[in-house]
Amino acid sequence: MSGQAAIIDGKAFAAGLRGRIGAQVARLKADHGITPGLAVVLVGEDPASQVYVRNKGRQTVEVGMASFEHKLPAETPEAELADLVARLNADPAVHGILVQLPLPAHMDATKVINAIDPAKDADGFHILNVGLLGTGQKAMVPCTPLGCLMMLRDHLGSLAGLNAVVVGRSNIVGKPMAQLLLNESCTVTVAHSRTRDLAQVCRGADILVAAVGRPGMIKGDWVKPGATVIDVGINRIEVDGKARLTGDVEFETAVRTAGAITPVPGGVGPMTIACLLANTLTACCRANGLPDPEGLTP
Ligand code: NDP
Repeated sequence: MSGQAAIIDGKAFAAGLRGRIGAQVARLKADHGITPGLAVVLVGEDPASQVYVRNKGRQTVEVGMASFEHKLPAETPEAELADLVARLNADPAVHGILVQLPLPAHMDATKVINAIDPAKDADGFHILNVGLLGTGQKAMVPCTPLGCLMMLRDHLGSLAGLNAVVVGRSNIVGKPMAQLLLNESCTVTVAHSRTRDLAQVCRGADILVAAVGRPGMIKGDWVKPGATVIDVGINRIEVDGKARLTGDVEFETAVRTAGAITPVPGGVGPMTIACLLANTLTACCRANGLPDPEGLTP
């Protein structure tokens, strides 16, 4: 078989997801008079972070939620950021809090994240949420792996019994992705920079998730015929003098072997902000003693 893989369109999926979130936000307002609110805190002037924060704010408003942006100068003392987080924790109009990473070098990101009220931890990075996810309990789930899971479920239905290989073991993508797949009853292998014969490990995967940060590292002949490939990587490369985004999977070859594949750009990327909005809505429902919103949690 050649050139057969279905392309999993993350952009369209994310647009549909935002539509469903918007409809549920409208119902929450109409039935209960509640408007979910997301606070995003940006420290410093990192250009990529500024773009992310702008996009998050815009999409938050588009789905009918309240957006609160807090921009602090790079030299802000950590105690001042801690004060702001404490105020947001106590603010009943704020249901989700996100502190944009990376933080300036003089700040302890782990300490800052763990100061967020776990019930408002829209990124799912708080140690309590990590533990809840790890023990299969109701948690706030990191946005990127949550988006990957939604696309996998949509494409495959039940994931139970499938062999899943996650390449990458970061706390924000690889580990929570592996945990989510384990909770779905996949047989999970987590590969990393010390894995021996990565190609052979990948060839056993019905589900292959690449979250490495190395352009085109995973080749088509590492992909099991018919496998579902989720490419989380976002790498900036130059082609003929022009900047381009590319994934961790060599798309041109993998598309001929895989059963389905996410492109870069337009795959996992658009799902991440949509899942941030999903998490904020979930947090808002839980804070108000309402059932979890439909189809937005694992
Ligand atoms: P990290 O750098 O934190 O982790 C990378 C992982 O890849 C590590 O576990 C590392 O192993 C592993 N790795 C590195 N080299 C190799 C190799 N040669 N073979 C096998 N494994 C290797 O990255 P993140 O998890 O934060 O991000 C991964 C990618 O996903 C990046 O391209 C990032 O831009 C992208 N990303 C995309 C998002 C989206 O919204 N689509 C969101 C977040 C990230 P080890 O632990 O042994 O060092």
